[in-house]
Amino acid sequence: MAKVYFSDIRAEKKRSLLDKTEALFDKAGFGDFVEKGDMVAVKVHFGERGNSAFVSPIFIRRIVDKIKACGGRPFLTDAGTLYVGSRANAVDHLITAIENGFDYSVVGAPLVIADGLNGKDYFEVKINGKHFDKTKIASAAYLADCLIAVSHFKGHELTGFGGTLKNIGMGLGCRSAKQEMHSDVLPEVDPKICTGCKRCIGWCSVCAIEINAIGKAEIDHKKCIGCGECTVTCPLSAVAIHWEAEPDVIQEKIVEYAVGVLKNKVNKVGFFNFMMNVTPDCDCWGWSDAPIVKDVGILASTDPISIDQASVDLINSAQGMKDTRLKDLSAKDKFRAIFPSVDWNIQLTYGEKMGLGKKAYELIEVE
Ligand code: SF4
Ligand code: SF4
Repeated sequence: MAKVYFSDIRAEKKRSLLDKTEALFDKAGFGDFVEKGDMVAVKVHFGERGNSAFVSPIFIRRIVDKIKACGGRPFLTDAGTLYVGSRANAVDHLITAIENGFDYSVVGAPLVIADGLNGKDYFEVKINGKHFDKTKIASAAYLADCLIAVSHFKGHELTGFGGTLKNIGMGLGCRSAKQEMHSDVLPEVDPKICTGCKRCIGWCSVCAIEINAIGKAEIDHKKCIGCGECTVTCPLSAVAIHWEAEPDVIQEKIVEYAVGVLKNKVNKVGFFNFMMNVTPDCDCWGWSDAPIVKDVGILASTDPISIDQASVDLINSAQGMKDTRLKDLSAKDKFRAIFPSVDWNIQLTYGEKMGLGKKAYELIEVE
């Protein structure tokens, strides 16, 4: 049974929530796996422009300081988004991160966009999954010696909740990996937008794209393997991004990507879940709706399944907040009450089956 360390939201003189974050780092044993000289990827979500619920950089600073004290070389990282927002390429992503307070002077560590300038820097990691036999892991995450993922635990319209599994699985796949996770539907070119520039052709590994008689790109679906590279290559977004994945399928795919992320980091990973500002939606939206429960606290563990299970259990036993998207304040399952058609348990059950960790956990309070 995995250990999950928990600090509640109370604070007092000389015992701030920042101090409690440091204590969780120690108790959960994160200092034991960071060795002198290790490059430590601190996976965060920098927040879409307009969002205000992501984990505050002042917490990240304390985690960075702990890693440095262990002799590690921390950097903050995330990969580009599939959708075209304020984080779809490294330039926009870094500007948004700095605007949201993730500046070196605040966090004490450099920022690295894990999948490079345009989302194409990744390593293939073989796995044995139901959906994928290989995953495309953002290169900075793959190359780092250690990974400490800091997740804002909140609702999500596709997975019920977004916690550690979502943060590392979806978050550290490169851009085209995100297309693979989001859809089983093969892409198509919109001839009204395409200018026939041929840029996408060179990125198709199976030569499935040709310029047709009217000078537009056309995809041969008999050859296409649905890798998504063309969707993130076209500068005009002429290759439609599909978002059709069913909630159960997308959860399983996220788990398989989490397996890929963690494969070369055995005993070199730690996870924080911050259960503060538990908004109904994820931090990829350019706004943050009111939290559905009162702030609960912070969890730390080396087991990605246990920490998400413990988080959802704590939130389901917390007081619901009036005048929010949570209409039934006494709902036993708060995320199901908001997203009735999404069974969030699928990600935990499949994650356990894939060997990522255990749903059973021991909750240890850290004062
Ligand atoms: S990159 Fe876009 S505009 Fe250029 S040929 Fe391909 S689909 Fe058309
Ligand atoms: S999805 Fe991949 S395989 Fe299919 S056309 Fe685009 S680049 Fe080629």
